[in-house]
Amino acid sequence: MATRRSVAIYARISQDRGGEGLGVDRQLQDCREKTARLGWTVADEYVDNDISAYDRRKKRPAYERMLADIAAGERDAVVVYHIDRLHRAPIELERFVDVCSIAGVKDLKTVSGDYDLGTGDGLLHARLLGIVAAAEGDAKSRRGKRKMREKAENGQPHGGGMRPFGFEKDQITHHPEEAAVIREAASRALAGESLTSLVRWLDEADVRTVTGRPWATTTLRQLLTNPRNWGVRTYKGAEPVKAVWEPIIDPADGARLRSVLLDPSRRTNRTARRYLLSGLGRCGRCGEVLVSHPKRGVRKYECRTSANHKGCGKISITAELLEEWVVEAVLHALDSPAMAQSLAPGSDDTETERIRAEVTRLRQRQEELAEMYADGEIDRAGWSTARNRMQNRVRDLDSALAGLTRRHAADPYLGKGEELRQQWEQMNLDRQVAIVKSVLNHVTVLPATVPGRHGLDPARVQPDWRR
Ligand SMILES: [Zn+2]
Repeated sequence: MATRRSVAIYARISQDRGGEGLGVDRQLQDCREKTARLGWTVADEYVDNDISAYDRRKKRPAYERMLADIAAGERDAVVVYHIDRLHRAPIELERFVDVCSIAGVKDLKTVSGDYDLGTGDGLLHARLLGIVAAAEGDAKSRRGKRKMREKAENGQPHGGGMRPFGFEKDQITHHPEEAAVIREAASRALAGESLTSLVRWLDEADVRTVTGRPWATTTLRQLLTNPRNWGVRTYKGAEPVKAVWEPIIDPADGARLRSVLLDPSRRTNRTARRYLLSGLGRCGRCGEVLVSHPKRGVRKYECRTSANHKGCGKISITAELLEEWVVEAVLHALDSPAMAQSLAPGSDDTETERIRAEVTRLRQRQEELAEMYADGEIDRAGWSTARNRMQNRVRDLDSALAGLTRRHAADPYLGKGEELRQQWEQMNLDRQVAIVKSVLNHVTVLPATVPGRHGLDPARVQPDWRR
């Protein structure tokens, strides 16, 4: 009977017992000898390589294959060097015991001991050893974490792993060339240069990351916003502390870099909004918001009819022309005494209150209309028309409210339209949008009166200034 055994040998490489001669060859050799002593046959050897035994998220493909073979009835015994090779957590042992019990596999052999999974004692023994192994692993991982935290709290570098860009292998001494790169990139980013442009510069200068890869905007943002550069040691969940190494850049610059490069509006807008007047254009026929998109290579703002857009689809204008006109008008408006007065601090509170009151009134009116429709007092078309009109008005009011809170964007330029004009081209889109929105509620585009006309007919454009 014994000779008919079809044995699964399981081995696992990990660092948790490093230096104790637990190389996979040694494990396999001992298991084969054990199997031979029993007079059994090795059916297959299953070897996993997981470096840390106690990272339980890691999958073990060979182990899973072995369980599948046991479940399929193709194995009658398991031989393993030590029970801690087989399982990393008590819960895994329970699953193993379940699979074995369904398949009728009772023999679990290790080089140092045998477990009869078919008896209570054997099971208990296996479980106890499993628990001991798991506890050892937890303690080791806790010790590792405590040591890491201690280092962090003393401002010492992490130590392990790859050296950070800008530092030598000791993670304390500055790497002279790389530190110079960090300084220059930081000062250029603070001067308003985009990450894309900085990545291009690094590429042309043949500057690589510590892994030898080209820089990308994401990796460069991570680099420039890392407090390590200004001599601060951080550790997850702990107070940042002064690091033992010298700062590469000034801490004040570091704080500014974080606010510039980690500003969430800058990051989301970069992909979501690429047009200056997105959300600000209105159809002069139906009042819908104009949608911006390129059409045969030319950017347009258009009223659209589609599943998502309920416009009339009859208005379209070249984006560049409209943007030029609006920017000119905004610069001009900032110089006008009337605008200067309306934007002056102090007029905010009453205006905000007035807008909020109107929004509330409109929302109440919308509910009344819905009830009237429900009661059959008005028909669907009447309800729908009135509702759309009110929704558009609410949207305008919301954008006016948002403008009130964003108003400070244009404050430095009040009465200085000319100064703003000189800086305009160098500003990034988000800054430009903020300034436009701080003075303009929306801009309505009327139908073209002269067909095929080139350039912009100013009569088509009606700005609604914030008042
Ligand atoms: Zn329309």
